[in-house]
Amino acid sequence: MDRVATTRVSLVGKSETSFLRRRMQHIGITKTATAIAFANEINNRPGLIIATLDFQLHRVQIAFSVLRLGTWLVMKQFDYIVLGSGIAGLSFALKVAPRGRVAIVTKKNKAESNTNYAQGGIAAVTSREDSFEMHVRDTLESGAGLCKESVVRAIVEEGPARIQELIELGMKFSERNDPQNHGQHQLDLGKEGGHSKRRILHAKDVTGREIERALLDAVSRQPNIEVFENYFGIDLITSQKLGYVGENRCLGAYVLDKNAGRVYAFVAPVTLLATGGCGKVYLYTTNPDIATGDGVAMAYRAGAPIANMEFIQFHPTCLYHPTAKSFLISEAVRGEGGVLKTIAGEEFMDHYHPLKSLAPRDIVARAIDSEMKKSGADYVLLDITHKPAKFVIDRFPNIYQNCLRYGIDITKEPIPVVPAAHYQCGGVVTNLDGETEIAGLHAVGEVACTGLHGANRLASNSLLEALVCAHRAAEKVLANPLPKNDLKIPLWQSGHATNADELVVVSHNWDEIRRLMWDYVGIVRTNKRLQRAEKRITNLQEEIQDYYWDFIVTSDLLELRNIATVAELIVKSALARPESRGLNYNLDYPAANPDWAQRDTVLQRQT
Ligand SMILES: Cc1cc2nc3c(=O)[nH]c(=O)nc-3n(C[C@H](O)[C@H](O)[C@H](O)COP(=O)(O)OP(=O)(O)OC[C@H]3O[C@@H](n4cnc5c(N)ncnc54)[C@H](O)[C@@H]3O)c2cc1C
Repeated sequence: MDRVATTRVSLVGKSETSFLRRRMQHIGITKTATAIAFANEINNRPGLIIATLDFQLHRVQIAFSVLRLGTWLVMKQFDYIVLGSGIAGLSFALKVAPRGRVAIVTKKNKAESNTNYAQGGIAAVTSREDSFEMHVRDTLESGAGLCKESVVRAIVEEGPARIQELIELGMKFSERNDPQNHGQHQLDLGKEGGHSKRRILHAKDVTGREIERALLDAVSRQPNIEVFENYFGIDLITSQKLGYVGENRCLGAYVLDKNAGRVYAFVAPVTLLATGGCGKVYLYTTNPDIATGDGVAMAYRAGAPIANMEFIQFHPTCLYHPTAKSFLISEAVRGEGGVLKTIAGEEFMDHYHPLKSLAPRDIVARAIDSEMKKSGADYVLLDITHKPAKFVIDRFPNIYQNCLRYGIDITKEPIPVVPAAHYQCGGVVTNLDGETEIAGLHAVGEVACTGLHGANRLASNSLLEALVCAHRAAEKVLANPLPKNDLKIPLWQSGHATNADELVVVSHNWDEIRRLMWDYVGIVRTNKRLQRAEKRITNLQEEIQDYYWDFIVTSDLLELRNIATVAELIVKSALARPESRGLNYNLDYPAANPDWAQRDTVLQRQT
């Protein structure tokens, strides 16, 4: 029989046609040239193959259909991929959406993010008594000599314009009566540690929730944006990883649909990492469960440089209660007069810093740590009972209600508090426009390290940084569009094992990493403890690597791999810095070393 296949093809991709050709040749079909050539002319968007084959080749036709359908199911093409739906991801998505199709991939429900839990507010110069110069100076001082001044200046100066846009989008900040213009309102400005002026815009004590509401409302009005909830970014797809030579370029990301258990390749010329921080690497944290450092781990695996990961900010005041999970008592409570005391009721911050309870966060956290070690107590107290109850309830309704749920009336009794991991000052190295070393890959928000925070973030500067840099990143990619890639992207290969015995190992390793990071790589460090932590993490990494490729991917396993990577980066960075500066306090080098001022610790994996 003459083995001729008459094939009509429409909208078929190049990768499929070459695969088709190989498969057909493999089984002896040679006269397919016309059909394949025609197919090659057509763009590479997902489509449909209609193949009419000789009845004896029926099996082959089915194989093609399955192949095509499978490819259509596992590949999603966009103009922009945004990993994360906090302030950074949503702000960027809204700005690029008028010019292309945007996928927002987010691993839980769309509001679940660090942003959603921000209480204090956004720092920006909006009052006549304040100035850019003062905000810059406060930021540099808090950053302990490691901030990049040009970055600080740009972010501080662009802040007010971005805040105005947020207000125009529907964000409602708290206001108060303007004392100089009767009947008029003005923004109510809060004060926080390290700020020399009142400059924190807030929505009572639920600023982050209001930001998410306003941004998500705007996203829902934008038809070009598709939000993928419960989709988990696993790894970045880069040209280098796929073995292509030339400039390393990000082509998108492999993403797990958590509900269906299926992995897709999301493909686009531009990918934005907006995955937030890594508080969950530590046993005690103010961060919600999503904060597992996925973006930093992904970028590191892809070969991007990661900087300053030793600078983990511990928030001094997390509620201490056996059943309260990571509830923050905002710095604004101290800004409004709250005072730190020992459990014996004695004020202690005057022994540590002239600003007392409003000293920079690193100093307050270390002071609390030291007082707890001295007294053997599990917590210290934060007292705001001297303020009128009405003021406290009105200014901090969320904190008041939450504490009340745990039996603590903050208007009548002091709040038991402990420090907890809060903010990642380092991250994926970017410039002000969110550009990383990998073409097509941007990073914005807590995942990124721009140089704004230096060795210690000034309170409420992080939401500001995310807003400003998301805007700049959007402007940059809109002004310099990258061509669509036509590289062949392989499908995700996954193991199949689900052995319950092994799953116990996953949860055990989760706990082990978080505890060892808390015990050995916490607020006060020593070389010996860091080296001990390094050894353990290396062993854990090997174990995780051993079973990673055999298992069906689940979010628990993926997060475990990521927290192990981030833990390794934190420890290695801390070991690489032979000094105490800002948040990195090492008893073996108790002072700052001038040679290390303005020196970042940069780690980059050789791919
Ligand atoms: C309790 C608390 C209070 C705070 N208060 C303030 C404050 O008052 N002022 C201030 O400036 N800062 C504050 N911060 C810090 C600030 O909230 C964060 O730095 C900021 O919100 C980070 O925004 P982001 O968009 O970078 O990340 P996030 O808001 O954390 O968003 C990250 C997003 O990425 C998603 N994600 C993560 N990994 C993946 C993955 N693998 N795949 C898919 N999606 C993923 C998450 O689900 C989430 O949607 C606070 C933080 C906390 C925890």
